[in-house]
Amino acid sequence: MKKNVVIAILLLATIVLFAMVQSKPEVSKQSCVGCGDCVNYCPVQAISLQNGKAVIDTDVCIDCKMCITTCTYNAIK
Ligand code: SF4
Ligand code: SF4
Repeated sequence: MKKNVVIAILLLATIVLFAMVQSKPEVSKQSCVGCGDCVNYCPVQAISLQNGKAVIDTDVCIDCKMCITTCTYNAIK
């Protein structure tokens, strides 16, 4: 029983650590053409257009990666 608790704690710690080191998506200012597709597809409205370029609010972003697959210009990594 005690061994299972230790394993569960280690598993939880690994998940938390993995979530912490995962980086949020970033927009390449060079590649972004400001089409706004990612703005429309983001489920939590974390993206806005500023000066014709997409900007991601990393505090709001839930890291779903939808914008990465949506951008046909490959501007989000
Ligand atoms: S979908 Fe791509 S090109 Fe269009 S605004 Fe978003 S990042 Fe820029
Ligand atoms: S990863 Fe998801 S939540 Fe974050 S900016 Fe892209 S679409 Fe929005």
